[in-house]
Amino acid sequence: MTPGRVRAAAGPPPYLAGLRLGGRRVVVVGGGAVAVRRVAGLVAAAADVAVVAPAVTPALEEMATKGDLIWHPRRYVAGDLAGAWYVVAATDDPDVNAAVAAHAEAARIFCSRADDAEASSAWTPATGRHGDLGLGVIGGDPRRTIAVRDYLLEALRTFSPPPAERSAEAGGRTGSVAVVGAGPGAADLVTLRALRVLQRADVVVTDRLVPLELLDALGAHVQVIDAAKVPDGRSMAQEEINRLLVEHALAGREVVRFKGGDPFVFGRGHEEVLACAAAGVPVVVVPGITSAVAVPAAAGIPVTHRGTSQAFAVVSGHVAPGDPRSTVDWHHLAGTGATLVLLMAVKNLAAIAGELQSGGLAAATPVACVQDGTTPTQRVLRMTLAEAAAEVRSSGVKNPAVIVIGEVAGLPQPARPSR
Ligand code: SAH
Repeated sequence: MTPGRVRAAAGPPPYLAGLRLGGRRVVVVGGGAVAVRRVAGLVAAAADVAVVAPAVTPALEEMATKGDLIWHPRRYVAGDLAGAWYVVAATDDPDVNAAVAAHAEAARIFCSRADDAEASSAWTPATGRHGDLGLGVIGGDPRRTIAVRDYLLEALRTFSPPPAERSAEAGGRTGSVAVVGAGPGAADLVTLRALRVLQRADVVVTDRLVPLELLDALGAHVQVIDAAKVPDGRSMAQEEINRLLVEHALAGREVVRFKGGDPFVFGRGHEEVLACAAAGVPVVVVPGITSAVAVPAAAGIPVTHRGTSQAFAVVSGHVAPGDPRSTVDWHHLAGTGATLVLLMAVKNLAAIAGELQSGGLAAATPVACVQDGTTPTQRVLRMTLAEAAAEVRSSGVKNPAVIVIGEVAGLPQPARPSR
């Protein structure tokens, strides 16, 4: 149903109410694209959904197979609405929709008619969710209604609740820590959950590789602690970070530990989780999009590709091969056929490439190096394993950079990069 075909209703405004449909029978007549959208919301509300339609879309059929709804594969007949609390008429036949609406009216069941707002006793708002809040916008031209809904959702994403309310409520209780992944670099590659948790934070303890725009958007009352910045240029000791997290949480604050990529990929995130747990501080983890997969993707490199690579290994290169602290068996990795994704490996690339070759990986194996992936300064070098170390050094590649070794790094690229 295109929005243009919906006739807006005149007359008094609709009365807004939230229907609690859990376990209540709802009948949807029609099995096309409009029905899918309505059914998704009804199933999310735990309604007892019955779909009446001779044919349905694959999505509806799958929901029927899973038991999310009951599908009656036939045309609508009078009597189908028995026991229903709510009805959606969403066929592409106005006569059928009119009959459904008339039967519903006679049985005092509210009915939403997808093709005719004026003839509907109930309107479906444009909806959205923000944490535990539901948002519904109703009335007006459908395109404008959706635009207003989107605008409100976007505004809510950057909205911080006034601090006063929450500190009053805090009185004496323990706060909590969320260990949150910030994604690979681009501000819009952070997750919705991460944004929501950030908006509730009193304190944010941040790393170097997080999108600064996200920190800029925080309310003035939020204390931002840069864990990467210390006077002598060395990184703050992990114990000190753990101590800070625990201390702020015990003082009743909501603390976000904000880390680049995913917090559990070379991020020491689990050490922080354990430190909080040991101190009795409630702690949750919010996964992030890891640079190990997203940065190659941003350069057009799939870490797996049918027929080319059926595995990938994400390896830290920050300890050189042969160093007593290294636990990586580079010779073994050379023989696995897996795509190798190296993080923190720019400095040790010569030694790593040498080990891989002496382990049997061909000198001609394609290699790509992606610096500042997903950001405006992204830069991609392509070369072979034999050339890689010299090429990366002479091009002046700086951290952060991901190095991809394997046939996937040499796959043909589309004519126009799809970024
Ligand atoms: N937890 C992070 C990784 C931390 S280790 C994650 O899941 O992404 C830091 C390393 O990640 C960097 O040295 C670099 O190898 C890689 N990295 C992170 N962001 C990057 C980016 N935008 N471009 C290239 N490499 C990146």
